[in-house]
Amino acid sequence: MLGAGFGFVLAVLERNAEQMREMATHDGLTGCVNRITFDAMLLNALQRGLRSGEPVSLLMLDLDHFKAINDRYGHRAGDAVLRSFSDVVRTQLRASDTLARVGGEEFAVILPGTDAAGAAHVAESVREAVQSAAVDNQQGGVLRITISVGVACAQDGDGASADLLYQRADNALYQAKAAGRNRVVPASVSALPPAIEPA
Ligand code: GH3
Ligand code: MG
Ligand code: MG
Repeated sequence: MLGAGFGFVLAVLERNAEQMREMATHDGLTGCVNRITFDAMLLNALQRGLRSGEPVSLLMLDLDHFKAINDRYGHRAGDAVLRSFSDVVRTQLRASDTLARVGGEEFAVILPGTDAAGAAHVAESVREAVQSAAVDNQQGGVLRITISVGVACAQDGDGASADLLYQRADNALYQAKAAGRNRVVPASVSALPPAIEPA
């Protein structure tokens, strides 16, 4: 009897610990990995990539004109859009990929073992899936959203620092916005730092 009671308490404690872990590592609204966890996972993916020689790609995604959705349908609908958006993106990813919420309506995807061409392909399928999704506007109707995406890839040690990869993907995202939104832009090779010449 005492043993069963103790087992029950242990099970409750374990469930609480699991909930605490989830809250510390994930965003409560969308269930995506949070910014702190994303930083650690990107670093880890890059270190693994360096050891194995496999590429690692990074997508930066930002919802287009999201403020207008909040303004028109309200913040609650905006929140629902962020949740739906995350669900749609997940349908296009592999189990080894990671979707993170890195800012309000800004997301990132880590694609281990994916080269630049593969990453551009994933980015385009995500963009298309988001554009095609009918999202509940919380007022009995549906609305459409689009995203802009920047893509960067680290391969053979180039662009291998997490900060640099992030910066390159973010620059490409900025270019996608400037070019009219609802598009995928790959980071240009010229955005790479100059190669270090052997002495
Ligand atoms: P752009 O196409 O240039 O990205 O335009 P934008 O309107 O998407 O970008 P802007 O940075 O002007 O606005 C982002 C908006 O996202 C403003 C902010 O209130 C909203 N936002 C950020 N986090 C949340 C959230 O958790 N829920 C809701 N509903 N809105 C959020
Ligand atoms: Mg935006
Ligand atoms: Mg933004």
